[in-house]
Amino acid sequence: MIRKGMKLYSILFGVCPKCHQESMYVNKNPYAITQVMKMHDHCSHCKTKYQMEPSFFYGSMYVSYGVGIAFAVAAFITSYVIFESSITTAFISIVLTLVLLFPVIMRLSRNIWINIFMSYDKSLAKK
Ligand SMILES: [Zn+2]
Repeated sequence: MIRKGMKLYSILFGVCPKCHQESMYVNKNPYAITQVMKMHDHCSHCKTKYQMEPSFFYGSMYVSYGVGIAFAVAAFITSYVIFESSITTAFISIVLTLVLLFPVIMRLSRNIWINIFMSYDKSLAKK
């Protein structure tokens, strides 16, 4: 199971990578499009600063490419292999998947990126 203390927990739920006690995002819903990238400056529980250096989250674009490819491949396999659709329909399903899941992909990428540089700290969670 996925529980606090695992990197996967922070990546999937967008919580502070050090204490896992609160969301890094102002609005937890990624489909609140105007607030999709709005993050708190620091964690109110453990005071971890999320933006470690200026333009820190530009690096998440590299991760976003990989995450996007993963979703595209999943959409292709689902459409073309499982439902045996035409190649055109498979292509449309890939485009729709990437457009509709864009906010989710963006947040997942940021969560993965920050979790590369920060790890869970049990002592910070207890404070
Ligand atoms: Zn924290």
